[in-house]
Amino acid sequence: MKSLWIGFLRWFDNGQVGAELDEGTNPDAIDWVRVIPFLGMHLMVLGVFWVGWSWPAVTLCLALYFIRMFAVTGFYHRYFSHRTFQTTRFWQFIMAVWGSSATQKGPLWWAAHHRHHHRHSDDEEDPHSPHSHSLFHSHVGWITIRRYFPTNLKAVPDLAKYPELRFLDRFYVLVPVLLGAACFFFGKAWAYWFPESGVTAMQMLVWGFFVSTVLLFHCTCLINSAAHLMGKKRYETGDQSRNSLILALITLGEGWHNNHHYYPGAVRQGFYWWEIDITYYGLRMLQGLGLIWKLNAVPQNVVELGRTRKAAGKPVAERAVEMVEDALPNVAELEAAAKAVTRKTVTG
Ligand SMILES: [Zn+2]
Ligand SMILES: [Zn+2]
Repeated sequence: MKSLWIGFLRWFDNGQVGAELDEGTNPDAIDWVRVIPFLGMHLMVLGVFWVGWSWPAVTLCLALYFIRMFAVTGFYHRYFSHRTFQTTRFWQFIMAVWGSSATQKGPLWWAAHHRHHHRHSDDEEDPHSPHSHSLFHSHVGWITIRRYFPTNLKAVPDLAKYPELRFLDRFYVLVPVLLGAACFFFGKAWAYWFPESGVTAMQMLVWGFFVSTVLLFHCTCLINSAAHLMGKKRYETGDQSRNSLILALITLGEGWHNNHHYYPGAVRQGFYWWEIDITYYGLRMLQGLGLIWKLNAVPQNVVELGRTRKAAGKPVAERAVEMVEDALPNVAELEAAAKAVTRKTVTG
């Protein structure tokens, strides 16, 4: 009974209340009590059959999807996880609030897990690898497992030193609840001012918050699952990360995942002008407004290397010649080794 109560409390408080109860439990089991709000969020999507739809509701859904996707990729990922640009403490806090409206837990939790992903990409310890785990586990299953609920503060000491970020991380449910309430009251106001529009408060809540958040969640997760499966590998990264235009469009630039795994320290993930990276353009605008600065560029040698690797897409005949040329140093090495052996045999 007590563990049920503690599980319920942890819906609102990620500060490890009742941590002593975790002793002796299987860290790899699903935490069913804590998963209930997550399941509930998905069930609420079915609410569209009751509340119907309207253009204002669908527009709000899409607007909140893109506004929050920008925060996930631009702030949670490129700022908090990789520190690819700088800002003030005040704007850092605003970015954390904006990011936590995405309902993907707090900035410290997100960054700690993401840094872990880069250290263990596609090995056994990578919680969301479709190569060392099942596709379902890599996409969403891992989030339901006990061991992935707490925030590993040791992985993010640079962020954990700010009490305001720790607060947001601990009570990560706060901003999403406020956003849901805002959608509801926005719908109420809309229905009051435009009664003929057919909009209701519940319709705005279901579309603006639940449909939008579930879409946002699964499209973000595609970078863990699909971006390690579909698309092209430009760089040899030692993992299965890929570049995909479709994923880049859906996620505002995160689809250039092979680029990103090769050089995670750069603010842009589309390394070339034709690799559309909307988050990067948005961040350049914030830079223009003077809100962020010192955006880390992609080193020229990485850009050049990427160009030569593009040779893999050339016609077969050309590639065959290049492959032979690539093999030449090996032939030379073999000859040198053979000579050394001969010398040894002769002198020995
Ligand atoms: Zn990855
Ligand atoms: Zn990353």
